[in-house]
Amino acid sequence: MTNDKLSPGMKQYLDIKKDYPDAFLLFRMGDFYELFYEDAVKAAQLLEISLTSRNKNADNPVPMAGVPYHSAQQYIDILVDLGYKVAIAEQMEDPKTAVGVVKREVIQVVTPGTVVDSAKPDNANNFLIALDRDDSHFGLSYMDVSTGEFYATSLTDLAAVRSEVLNLKARELVIGFDLTAEEEQLFQKQMNLLLSFERETYKDSQLIDQNLDALEITAAEKLLQYVHMTQKRELSHLQKLVHYEIKDYLQMTYATKSSLDLLENARSGKKHGSLYWLLDETKTAMGTRLLRVWIDRPLVNRDLIINRQNIVQVFLEHFFERSDLSDSLKGVYDIERLASRVSFGKANPKDLLQLSHTLAQVPAIKAILESFDSPYLKALVDQIDPLPELESIIRTAIDPDAQITVTEGNIIRSGFDETLDKYRKVMREGASWIADIEAKEKEASGINTLKIDYNKKDGYYFHVTNSNLSLVPDYFFRKATLKNSERFGTAELAKIEGEMLEAREESANLEYMIFMRVRKQVELYIGRLQQLAKHLATVDVLQSLAVVAENNHYIKPVFNDQEEIRIENGRHAVVEKVMGIQEYIPNSIYFDSKTSIQLITGPNMSGKSTYMRQLALAVIMAQIGSFVSADLASLPIFDAIFTRIGAADDLISGQSTFMVEMMEANQAIKKASRQSLILFDELGRGTATYDGMALAQAIIEHIHDRIGAKTMFATHYHELTDLSTKLTNLVNVHVATLEKDGEVTFLHKITDGPADKSYGIHVAKIAGLPDELLSHADHILFDLESSSQAVSVQTKAKAEQNHSVDEQLSLFNVDDDHSELIAKLKHLDVANLTPREAMNTLFDLKDLL
Ligand code: ATP
Repeated sequence: MTNDKLSPGMKQYLDIKKDYPDAFLLFRMGDFYELFYEDAVKAAQLLEISLTSRNKNADNPVPMAGVPYHSAQQYIDILVDLGYKVAIAEQMEDPKTAVGVVKREVIQVVTPGTVVDSAKPDNANNFLIALDRDDSHFGLSYMDVSTGEFYATSLTDLAAVRSEVLNLKARELVIGFDLTAEEEQLFQKQMNLLLSFERETYKDSQLIDQNLDALEITAAEKLLQYVHMTQKRELSHLQKLVHYEIKDYLQMTYATKSSLDLLENARSGKKHGSLYWLLDETKTAMGTRLLRVWIDRPLVNRDLIINRQNIVQVFLEHFFERSDLSDSLKGVYDIERLASRVSFGKANPKDLLQLSHTLAQVPAIKAILESFDSPYLKALVDQIDPLPELESIIRTAIDPDAQITVTEGNIIRSGFDETLDKYRKVMREGASWIADIEAKEKEASGINTLKIDYNKKDGYYFHVTNSNLSLVPDYFFRKATLKNSERFGTAELAKIEGEMLEAREESANLEYMIFMRVRKQVELYIGRLQQLAKHLATVDVLQSLAVVAENNHYIKPVFNDQEEIRIENGRHAVVEKVMGIQEYIPNSIYFDSKTSIQLITGPNMSGKSTYMRQLALAVIMAQIGSFVSADLASLPIFDAIFTRIGAADDLISGQSTFMVEMMEANQAIKKASRQSLILFDELGRGTATYDGMALAQAIIEHIHDRIGAKTMFATHYHELTDLSTKLTNLVNVHVATLEKDGEVTFLHKITDGPADKSYGIHVAKIAGLPDELLSHADHILFDLESSSQAVSVQTKAKAEQNHSVDEQLSLFNVDDDHSELIAKLKHLDVANLTPREAMNTLFDLKDLL
């Protein structure tokens, strides 16, 4: 349809829509937000609302769907949750007085990365990331629009970008350059991110320090531009851009964090069973968010770690003061998000009351912190500013019983404004005047049941039941007739009603204006409120660490420069918490300064993974500043943790288990330093035995000879344990088992030396496989073990690495008598055998032998 044939309203719609092609446009029409065309069809499906059409009888009716404006938020939330953008076009003038088409404008674009108004409580940050690139590197900047936190860093390659984007759990990327096909594939297909393109920059020298890396600056400026373009409102809460370096934190890829269950349990996707779950005894939403950041980014700077440790120690040593502290933190609201609501012009009277209640608590919190009387707390305490003037502004202005509505009065305290007090007097006295009139008319008319009521439609009126109608005086005039009664007014009642209504209306307007003024005043304190929020969050997280340390009997780890790991009676903190301390069997871990690799053997289910993760968790907890689950812990400060734990197919990115395994191994080999920790759990298991074993051995030797990182390598390849004779910095440990009368017990105890055998069939028995099948497996195992005795397994492993069939067979020392066997083997098309044919061929070969 050409634009000429369109109504002015539809023309306006299309005009606006063309600026927001990638968003659902919610077009305000009266009490509804309407969607048209494709938007309507798609939204009807996603939101399960009905699809109608405009101009039904026209040749090309326009598809249309709508949502009531008062419940629009829930629909917006659904669309944004699904990863879409929503542009909200409001009516900018009163339709009753507008000439021609009502003026409409987009007042906000809600996007997954910028959403702040969602009704859902959320203790996690929502980060929006912007990327810029030149030939040498990427500039990455990110922000939580709801709290105003703003960061930037430089990254060298796409893999680092991928990892950082995953770490930040961002859903939307603002891209400031032309994507390559590889980048597009990664961001859009594999990572399923919403991409928003932004070429313009928004300069703000107050927020962005111009001495930073140029790409970091442009990434940050494009981020700011995007945020301004979507929010279209005051953003006075945005904080100064903070530059950070990935290497300032213990480096872990997203896969590592996920396999160690740091922020959520990888299996369930829930908090329960994660390190965050274990460490979370925070009392405030800000503290919870900060704890998540700390877990996500453990430190590498010893002084900073020790600072945190010292405070945790002080909190631990003063039980009573600490309980008081925890109690007073409970009264602290999320001032970080409240401050943003003030900035957005969204804060309601209740929000301001929450701010002032929090501020009123702060002097007590400060006093408690001072009562610890510790030099370690001094710097923190000194930084806490209770902002008494702000507390007083809110307290004196806002009625303590005020609710969230700003337009209906009852939000400003009596005594704060003289005019308002006058109006209120009229309203109060009006009530007693009305009572007087009621009494007077009751007596004059003789109607005993006469009473004055009020409703919005009729205002004040005399309520007279039908049986008393004959007694109604003539100066009463009828206002309404109901089934059993009638409503009357009098001139006197109308006069008082007029005065009261005027007072009520005027006072509501006045209260609204006063409230806006107060909110503007509060806005001046946003920066200081954000600082206060940070300090209170820090106190909260540190007290949380102390509570956890006390409840679970943790000890303070120390750090050494000798590249030594010494953990006595250590426990996997989360597993111990889940199963109970009595059930858990502690394990000591010892790496002297020379030892680089521990090769861990032992049966399935015996506790190898748990033992490895125990070390990783101890390192992470220690570098967060937390105490750890052990009797003693002395650790080096690690710069990174690399893991290959568990078999995870990365189906979305189209990578097989083995490919993921090798990519993770590659990460470790390329990036690990001598100061890193590597955990490899059964590396190589995803391919054929000899392939896997050969790779595992080569990787171990590479780490041993060229990297020197502290490494735990759990394996089922017993053959690898012989490496200890060759590699001086490798030691064997194994998980002990107790075998008695054919029954095996796993002791979960790590012991020196290699394991003697594996117990796979035993584990299968525990899992409940049929007895018949198990005894068959026993026989096969017996056969396999007897035949393999003739052959050195190590030689076999080597043989598989790269040798041809001929070479491999020559290693078996076969003479010419076996030429038929060899010929048969050579021509065997293994890949195309059915299982039955394979079995039969095996029997034939055995007969030949
Ligand atoms: P697989 O080789 O099959 O991966 P694994 O040797 O790595 O097995 P884990 O997964 O670490 O074994 O442990 C198996 C189970 O044993 C755990 O789920 C836990 O319940 C229990 N377990 C492990 N270590 C201990 C311990 N130290 N104390 C008590 N129970 C333990």
